[in-house]
Amino acid sequence: MLTRDFIEIEEKYGAHNYHPLDVVITKANGVWVYDVDGNKYLDCLAAYSAVNQGHCHPRIVKALQTQAEKVTLTSRAFRNDQLPFLYKELSELTGYQMVLPMNSGAEAVETALKAARKWGYKVKGIEENSAEIITCTNNFAGRTISIISFSTVEQYKDGFGPFTPGFRVIEYGNADELEKVINKNTAAFLVEPIQGEGGVIVPPEGFLKKAYDICKKNNVLFIADEIQSGLGRSGKLFAFEYEGIRPDAVIIGKALSGGCYPVSAVLSDKEFLGVFNPGDHGSTFGGNPLAAAVARESIKVLLEEKLIENSFNMGKYFRDGLAKIKSKHIKEIRGKGLFIGVELKQEANGARRFCEALMKRGILCKETHENVIRFAPPLVIKKEEIDWALPIIEEVLLMD
Ligand SMILES: *Cc1c(COP(=O)(O)O)cnc(C)c1O
Repeated sequence: MLTRDFIEIEEKYGAHNYHPLDVVITKANGVWVYDVDGNKYLDCLAAYSAVNQGHCHPRIVKALQTQAEKVTLTSRAFRNDQLPFLYKELSELTGYQMVLPMNSGAEAVETALKAARKWGYKVKGIEENSAEIITCTNNFAGRTISIISFSTVEQYKDGFGPFTPGFRVIEYGNADELEKVINKNTAAFLVEPIQGEGGVIVPPEGFLKKAYDICKKNNVLFIADEIQSGLGRSGKLFAFEYEGIRPDAVIIGKALSGGCYPVSAVLSDKEFLGVFNPGDHGSTFGGNPLAAAVARESIKVLLEEKLIENSFNMGKYFRDGLAKIKSKHIKEIRGKGLFIGVELKQEANGARRFCEALMKRGILCKETHENVIRFAPPLVIKKEEIDWALPIIEEVLLMD
């Protein structure tokens, strides 16, 4: 079977909720993926930063296999011998007292929203059913009905109403607006320290710190969605570290499992996550022993292989290399660590055709929004691999 045969079946039987590049991947290793026709590609998307540790990392795969042969799912009706250590290790790593495990990123965001509302009523004393959560323009936090209710991307909402009330949106990067919108009913401010799906947008320097101080002053929870920007992607464990703040809660997912299993979590202190009582919230698969074993090993790999430092250093190297490319199409190159966005000018006619051209030459990227090419390879990438990629990227960006 060739690429087109797989695509034909997929298009015939699958819902068309994605528009993937026409590459059918059959195996992967580190920063490299291989298609069914035998071609090899450098993966510059890393499954939206879920495979920060590199594809099929041998240690993570081993942890998955070992745990799969012991016990995979107990449900939280019973306890298992992996989850306590995931809690402890995450707490020791991040300094937060408590962890609440989920599966997908969206579920962890929903969990944080529920916790924020409950905290608003039980701790802050907000009048029943009037809690508000403030979010930012151009946000991405998942695809559930409540989450899309605060999206500012028309397509994400089109045809999906009625929406969940209780959200307000301020301009990303505008702390003054945050201060104006906060009122006695505000429970939390939910923000991506760097917006990923929004186009790798780094907010103006000082914004996060200012927003954080405003939240503290007004008894509003500051919740960082680090599902994509976290776990080394930005060159720090968490992107908020660049501004020296400590959010009240941090949401993680994606690379928490090195791409080997869906695992997400909310991290916070007792004052916040402590609002949950038995029966308030849950998930059949959340916190299962397979997930916990995989996540524990994924974190160890991230730390022991110094992937956060590598992201910082290689990110700088990659961005410096991109900055030397003299293309009429480039509007801006931005990012932190290996979280890099190249925004093209309107006249470039969209980023997709450049992604397709890169694919033909062995580099897999995905356009985000219309005009941004995201370069976010696994954090195991080496200098030689970037040196291999840069001339190819240059050739493609010099196209007409
Ligand atoms: C991907 C992402 C999510 C949603 O994660 P899913 O696992 O796809 O549900 C939430 N927030 C951010 C910032 C993300 O990048």
